[in-house]
Amino acid sequence: MASPFPHLLAPIALAHLTLPNRVIMGSMHTGLEDHCWHFGRLAAFYRERAAGGAALIVTGGFAPDWRGRLSPFAGTMTNRAAALWHRRLTRAVHDAGSRIVMQILHAGRYGYHPLVESATALRSPISPFTPRAMSDARIRRVIGHFARAAALAQAAGYDGVEIMGSEGYLINQFLSSRVNHRTDRWGGGIDARMRVAIEIVRAVRERVGDAFVVMFRLSLLDLVEGGNTMAETIAVAQALEHAGITLLNSGIGWHEARIPTIGTIVPRAAFREATATVKRALRVPVVASNRINTPEIAEDIVASGDADLVSMARPFLADPQFVAKAAAGRSADINTCIACNQACLDRTFRNQRASCLVNPRACRETELGYAMTGTPRRIAVVGAGVAGLAAATIAAGRGHRVTLFEASDAIGGQFRLAMEVPGKEDFRDTLRYFDSRIATTGVDLRLNRRIAQGELADAFDAVVIATGVTPRIPEIDGIDHRKVISYADLIARRRIAGSTVAVIGAGGIGVDVCTFLLARYALSPQAWCDEWGVDVHAREAGGLTPATPMPPPRKVWLLQRRPGSKRMGSGPGKTTGWAHRLALKRMGVTMLAGVEYRAIDDHGLRIRVDGTERCLAVDSVIICAGQESVRDAIVTGDPRMHVIGGAYRASELDAEAAIRQAAELAARL
Ligand code: NAP
Ligand code: SF4
Repeated sequence: MASPFPHLLAPIALAHLTLPNRVIMGSMHTGLEDHCWHFGRLAAFYRERAAGGAALIVTGGFAPDWRGRLSPFAGTMTNRAAALWHRRLTRAVHDAGSRIVMQILHAGRYGYHPLVESATALRSPISPFTPRAMSDARIRRVIGHFARAAALAQAAGYDGVEIMGSEGYLINQFLSSRVNHRTDRWGGGIDARMRVAIEIVRAVRERVGDAFVVMFRLSLLDLVEGGNTMAETIAVAQALEHAGITLLNSGIGWHEARIPTIGTIVPRAAFREATATVKRALRVPVVASNRINTPEIAEDIVASGDADLVSMARPFLADPQFVAKAAAGRSADINTCIACNQACLDRTFRNQRASCLVNPRACRETELGYAMTGTPRRIAVVGAGVAGLAAATIAAGRGHRVTLFEASDAIGGQFRLAMEVPGKEDFRDTLRYFDSRIATTGVDLRLNRRIAQGELADAFDAVVIATGVTPRIPEIDGIDHRKVISYADLIARRRIAGSTVAVIGAGGIGVDVCTFLLARYALSPQAWCDEWGVDVHAREAGGLTPATPMPPPRKVWLLQRRPGSKRMGSGPGKTTGWAHRLALKRMGVTMLAGVEYRAIDDHGLRIRVDGTERCLAVDSVIICAGQESVRDAIVTGDPRMHVIGGAYRASELDAEAAIRQAAELAARL
């Protein structure tokens, strides 16, 4: 059979080794790196991805010394004992037939501890700690620490190292005049600012010899004021090539940038042109990254010559078999990363172990197994939202005979609404994945079939109730007025909003509704860059350019009862919330907190805020006031009955919790 992805799956020679394909599993901090007693779990995590065909795995970042740590207990590579622990990781990956490189990351002023250091004593806007400016002697010592970490990685059996020079970490802080205000040999023009990066690569190469991969992750677009231009970035890339790197990886945006770079709000492969520009100036292979989540896009990037390899990180949390499925022509079976950040980055930033919303096994490979059952049972699942879909397909995959009942004419539940929101188009892929799983696992799907209480009594050994939620109708005078629309009716296009709209409730769905009302659909990467003020050719510093947002098509107020509007409109995600809030502000949404709802009538929505009565003269009032569980099919006291997802608890429940609960139940049944 001809390869479905001939360019992506073609081998490539790197230094002393040949990779069987062009897919790199990019670096992710899972939380398992920080303590060696988690290395068994980390090895299992890497082993599955290696067995699933990732040609090269990059570990999460390990600091070359203790000052360079991201947090007080973050992993370091500083001595032989550490290297011995790492052998467990390298062996797992090599036994599974893949290759692994260790990322060396010095956090610089992004470190979350009081001993941080940087090029200059300038605090970052995202950290409470002011760094100490490094002395000349200290800089030389840190360069030596990078070389030591690389040599220890080599001793631990790694195939190479990735030197982290992007996302605003220490090396990036030296590269850019935003942070580097030095007047000695390490600061000034780009030739001086790049000296740290170049000396690190030289020192590393000298210690490890030629038969070792040295990958450098370079910030191609800083996306911050005072960042580098593309001309400067190309000069750095060429000097790195000259200093001995094996390949160059793309980094996009500092962590303190106020432009989203990996969230679902970013179009797929939005930054490929930046990689293509740098690649044209180099001889070493170049890797594309950021918002690449399907083999089709990855193939297009390699086939078009924009990059030689593609790095994907979160897609490997979502599906360890990404490459194997692509190679077998089964890309419809891939569980696609929807770039929500909810179970991975949001957790990492809360110092919790990462996982994945669409794959709760990620980083829990040794704890959550889906082994075949020795005693197949007849299982009914009621409700085909994501909780029901996960329970049904995992149980069926384990060998149970599963019937899935859905009252409507399609699978998906609340996800069907979410995927209609501009910027959440990827949610469709989750339903495509479940469609494919239903077919391959043999789930008997019955659509348009509402189950009454007690109806399934004796026909099944177990019944899983996943009937989900229904929108809450708040008690407000005039709630039956014709201008009132539920979010579900709005997003399903059963009702249309007018040109002035009040949104009641500023949770995740209130934010989604504002986006639905105001944003344009399926922005092309160029239109998205115009909207956010990004120049992928970085003609000016940092790749920033004046934003040219489209005028909003209607006037929207977003309201909540709770006082305090600081985080209002950001939704639940820590790593994505700020971008949603910024987008809503840009679209002219007026946010009001501490609101008391008085009445809805022909004049609009009457509210009391800050002790003053007001009437918002709106055509439509959209209700996003949370949900209530749908529990009509439950028979209390029946031990065969299991209630999951929104039917179990509607408040504060989201898709991540629902899918995790479903998976854990299906693994036990
Ligand atoms: P939610 O997050 O609970 O928000 C509901 C909002 O309605 C609250 O902000 C609440 O604020 C308001 N509210 C509650 N009862 C009310 C009442 N009786 N009258 C008026 N206002 C009332 O629920 P949701 O927005 O429907 O989201 C449901 C779940 O899906 C959440 O867990 C959410 O995290 C998840 N979700 C996530 C995303 C995402 O992008 N990650 C997107 C959508 C949904 P006040 O009481 O202060 O007014
Ligand atoms: Fe992707 Fe969301 Fe899973 Fe993270 S949690 S890997 S962003 S699907």
